[in-house]
Amino acid sequence: MADLQLDDVTKVFVEDDGNEITAVDEVSLAIDDGEFLVLVGPSGCGKSTTLRMVAGLETVSDGAIRLGGSVINDAKPAERDIAMVFQSYALYPHMTVRENMSFGLEESTSMPDDEIASTVEDAATMLGIDDLLERKPDDLSGGQQQRVALGRAIVRDPEVFLLDEPLSNLDAKLRAQMRTELQRLQEDLGVATIYVTHDQTEAMTMADKIAILNDGQLQQVGTPLECYHEPANLFVASFIGEPSMNFFDVSRDGETLVHDDFTYELTSAVASELGDHDELVLGIRPEDIELRSTQDDTHSYETFVDVVEPMGNENNVYLTFDADSTETFVATIDGLNHVEDGQSVIAHVPEDAIHIFDRASGSALRNRTLDTQAMPEPQL
Ligand code: ATP
Repeated sequence: MADLQLDDVTKVFVEDDGNEITAVDEVSLAIDDGEFLVLVGPSGCGKSTTLRMVAGLETVSDGAIRLGGSVINDAKPAERDIAMVFQSYALYPHMTVRENMSFGLEESTSMPDDEIASTVEDAATMLGIDDLLERKPDDLSGGQQQRVALGRAIVRDPEVFLLDEPLSNLDAKLRAQMRTELQRLQEDLGVATIYVTHDQTEAMTMADKIAILNDGQLQQVGTPLECYHEPANLFVASFIGEPSMNFFDVSRDGETLVHDDFTYELTSAVASELGDHDELVLGIRPEDIELRSTQDDTHSYETFVDVVEPMGNENNVYLTFDADSTETFVATIDGLNHVEDGQSVIAHVPEDAIHIFDRASGSALRNRTLDTQAMPEPQL
């Protein structure tokens, strides 16, 4: 059993002046065998510290880390069947690719030389770097160096892979390519993986499960679509999605949400989900706002186009409720739909797509309704 479990894991750093910093605060997580978990959150939220505790590079202040059911809090890094790949590839510059990939096996196992050679060659073939084995790291591109760093982890055949922002030194195109390669590789190897990033696109596209951290505290664990469509709170709703969800501070008056610029009538069913909370935040994703030319619904509002950001496949249209206002919200429309700066448009905010949060706690009181559909099998 290779499943990894974090139970209320906490890390407190004590600075020289005695000041305590809680970098990781009672985080509980379970990663099943073969699962790809992406740990995501803003800079300083505790991602790397969590990973370093799992690797054994940082002590655990409180809580337990279990691998296959056994507590490994006090095991030395070399005693844990865990391989870590860092953002800086940390390759030995004076060694060839072959030597870099063989080194760990030579040092920490009794594997015979010919078996080490074939293990390294198999991993290099898998990663498409088998023709680079005699080169030194300086003679490789960033993407090739990253593959060598991955290869060095793969040859150890670990129970768990830990990847700390492994693609952040690569250019955007190579990063996108390596994202797919890494996913395929992880599926082929079937190794439980924790992948740390602050990039929510990497989280959405690569993860089986996303764990979102803020200020050392776990905000939500779920599939990418759960985190996107059913955020647990305002933090997750604003962190996942680009452009971000739009938020409006509203007060509740019976079944009506009242904002400075508009009122929004709720159906009784939706209003009943709000309990006795009155000070709220209304959220709507940019792609859920429909732009129309006629006002024929209670959830439609006259707005003005402030700025249009063309992305090619779609346009991000920044809107205001008042022609002179600078307070914008954003709607995403098809890239071939043309709107002009300053133009008046009707923004329709469908009730089945709205999210409502309690303003004080940030907790989601109501998330959008989901109607996912599977692509039908072709009738050939
Ligand atoms: P980034 O994305 O910027 O790498 P991160 O989410 O990985 O950030 P951590 O590196 O885990 O964040 O840091 C979490 C918090 O712990 C930060 O406030 C950081 O300043 C603090 N911290 C990390 N290492 C130490 C240390 N050795 N001593 C004191 N504080 C530390």
